[in-house]
Amino acid sequence: LKRTKISEALRLTNFGEEVNVKGWVRTRRGNKNVGFVALNDGSTINNIQIVIDIANFGEELLRPVTTGACISVNGELVESQGKGQSVEIRATEIEVYGSADPATYPLQKKGHSLEFLREIAHLRPRTNTFGAIFRMRHHMSYAIHKYFNDRGFYYFHTPIITASDAEGAGSMFEVSTLDIENPPRNKEGKVDFSQDFFGRQTNLTVSGQLEGELGAMALGAIYTFGPTFRAENSNTPRHLAEFWMIEPEMAFYDIHDNMDLAEDFLKYLIRYALEHCREDIEFLAKMYDEELTDRLNFVVENDFVRLTYTEGVKILEESGQKFEFPVHWGTDLQSEHERYLVEKHFKRPVILTDYPREIKSFYMKQNDDGKTVRAMDVLFPKIGEIIGGSEREADYDKLMNRVEETGMHTEPIWWYLETRKFGTAPHSGFGLGFERLMLFITGMANIRDVIPFPRTPNNADF
Ligand code: ATP
Ligand code: MG
Ligand code: MG
Ligand code: MG
Repeated sequence: LKRTKISEALRLTNFGEEVNVKGWVRTRRGNKNVGFVALNDGSTINNIQIVIDIANFGEELLRPVTTGACISVNGELVESQGKGQSVEIRATEIEVYGSADPATYPLQKKGHSLEFLREIAHLRPRTNTFGAIFRMRHHMSYAIHKYFNDRGFYYFHTPIITASDAEGAGSMFEVSTLDIENPPRNKEGKVDFSQDFFGRQTNLTVSGQLEGELGAMALGAIYTFGPTFRAENSNTPRHLAEFWMIEPEMAFYDIHDNMDLAEDFLKYLIRYALEHCREDIEFLAKMYDEELTDRLNFVVENDFVRLTYTEGVKILEESGQKFEFPVHWGTDLQSEHERYLVEKHFKRPVILTDYPREIKSFYMKQNDDGKTVRAMDVLFPKIGEIIGGSEREADYDKLMNRVEETGMHTEPIWWYLETRKFGTAPHSGFGLGFERLMLFITGMANIRDVIPFPRTPNNADF
């Protein structure tokens, strides 16, 4: 008998026929004569009910059928008497693949705190909450590829181990094969990286952008979608040390084309979630965030507000709000400022442009005012910055000026700088943090709860 996934079994109507389902027991209840098992196999938020006539099996065989156990059930598909579910299975054969000792299985009762579940990251995918979130991660990953594929963008694979640092030093994880206790040293006593595996100092990538730009300047439009690493030493609900980033990069796009793409992309993804993850979103909304569905619909249906950083700062200064970090022209905005603009002032997503060049990266196109660059940050309710992007500086001399001003080492990015000498082109791109998107569409409050294995300070156990 071939296995039927529970998501499909719940939709069957061929009552009286025999089916097989396999999965993990969520609950078992009943009395001496009849047992009821709620079984889940991860294919849906819903469980299927297994009805067991105890006399047919005997206590002995049924003893290991407890919460957490993995079982295979053959049985007759019957129309359910109870409310809600339309079908259940009257068991004829039960095989226990793996029991789960009730004295030690941690997911015994329902309603564990999210904090507790983070301590059992190896088992939390078996809960309704994390089942829903991880199914949604899958669907959104697929939607991202579909969006770009349908629009002629190529998926371009950028390296994880690099010698460059797109966003400035201080937040990189070094990669090394040297003996950390006793590394080789040169005459000055410094660690001699020429003896390292790559013959030089390397680190885990903080962004695929620089390499992505090369792709755009050959293939026209590309995107990356992979893990990026930042040794963020602050503990916030919005930062991970290992997160996934989507970075499209397009030749012949200016900042306005870039903003149009970012807005369309985000709306597409949210619409996709509403259409393809309805049951999971409804569950999460009920559990954690009653306004979730309304908020998602609102973002899809309304234009984002676009204004400059300078205008945004003016609004913040005149707001009379007491912020933890005071704002004035030149400060990098904190999420409290971003959320004020979005949630209180405009009540819509906001795209801020033309930031002071001192607080943005060297590669952003410089405006004629000599003070600002063509940056754009997309700001979302409950999140703050969800996307950071810009039109890139395509002019070799201007780019080199900026590199020199910021005191960057040119050697690790010589290849990047050279693209401005050989057929340079106007181009733009942005980075969307995948987990920030997941926070938004799941309504969860902490980024640790939207990735299977969160990496944060002092947390890499599993
Ligand atoms: P923030 O201001 O929130 O620290 P950032 O400006 O440092 O973000 P960028 O370098 O612009 O981030 O990266 C692009 C996008 O990647 C951000 O808009 C955000 O969605 C996401 N992102 C950045 N850092 C992290 C992180 N540590 N964890 C999860 N997502 C991140
Ligand atoms: Mg940051
Ligand atoms: Mg930022
Ligand atoms: Mg940014």
